[in-house]
Amino acid sequence: MRYLITGAAGFLGTHLASRLLAEGHEVIGLDNFHSGAEANISRLRLDSRFQFVQHDVVTPYDIPCEVVCNLACPASPPHYQRDPIYTAKIAFLGTLHALENAERNKAKVLQASTSEIYGDPLVHPQPEDYLGNVNPIGVRSCYDEGKRIGETLCADFTRLGRVDARLVRIFNTYGPRMSATDGRVVSNLILQALQGQDLTVFGDGTQTRSFCYVDDTIHATRLLMASPKEVTGPINVGNPTECTILELASLILELTDSRSKLSFLPAAADDPHKRQPSIELARRELTWEPELELKEGLLKTIAYFDSYLK
Ligand code: NAD
Ligand code: UDP
Repeated sequence: MRYLITGAAGFLGTHLASRLLAEGHEVIGLDNFHSGAEANISRLRLDSRFQFVQHDVVTPYDIPCEVVCNLACPASPPHYQRDPIYTAKIAFLGTLHALENAERNKAKVLQASTSEIYGDPLVHPQPEDYLGNVNPIGVRSCYDEGKRIGETLCADFTRLGRVDARLVRIFNTYGPRMSATDGRVVSNLILQALQGQDLTVFGDGTQTRSFCYVDDTIHATRLLMASPKEVTGPINVGNPTECTILELASLILELTDSRSKLSFLPAAADDPHKRQPSIELARRELTWEPELELKEGLLKTIAYFDSYLK
């Protein structure tokens, strides 16, 4: 099969591309390096079944393929808040163009949506039928509302019979090849611990997240793409083991054998207080659940950043 991955130079795009190539598929990666790295593409280019197109998804494109995996969008808060109007354009126009390209080429779509569509949730854990609590005018809304309209477009294209689009709501994912500079908590804290710097905790650190190892997330997206047509999603993909940021920091200090201290900084605006996926639907419809525990996944990620620093 011929897959088009938008956002192929990013964290998840690189992993998805590697996985598809390993399965024997052809992959066209599309990216404009807005938040991704050229180095990720050089690694993929070693495979002759990989082609790369440098393009901004805000502008339409016509690329023949059988599946469009629409991942292009800055995903870390510092990146998506840097140019919020551009982020909103990417989320809306990028998704529209992915759907139009799929319709022209009779291709399926896998849309990377997010747990951010639940905002600061009032229902815990979050099932797919929870409609969310998003501040429409906050600093995170360029991304949150952008991803919500992305879901709307996918649902309408599917309802109208124009495209078979699958929606995956990805919860915080981590692992090797995360960007060292995009400011996400797992990469920040590991790099700080390894370099003997203070670990930056935003707010009092009692906010929670549920971290899923990248191989588990990618496995679930593959299962969703291969599911019968009726399994459109949205479907939560994440690890239901919830922890506070303080617990994450202390686990990272223990696993890196670091003597760094914690440095408490002001809480980020509109930062969700808690987040935990309900994965009953994924268990039932994809026969999937995450395999790697946080400790094992962190050890692999620490090993990656350790060699990155050398
Ligand atoms: P990332 O920032 O590492 O990758 C995004 C990629 O999209 C980058 O390579 C970037 O250059 C590219 N891109 C951005 N704007 C573009 C544009 N206008 N045109 C072309 N390419 C563009 O992020 P990621 O973690 O790999 O996330 C990938 C997708 O998964 C995103 O859509 C994100 O919203 C979603 N997601 C990720 C997570 C997570 O924990 N990593 C969680 C929920 C959802
Ligand atoms: N966070 C933190 N220190 C950091 C980076 C993030 O305490 O150096 C917090 C952040 O405020 C949030 C959580 O960790 O509560 C997860 O942040 P991240 O940016 O990784 O993901 P998201 O907020 O998008 O879930």
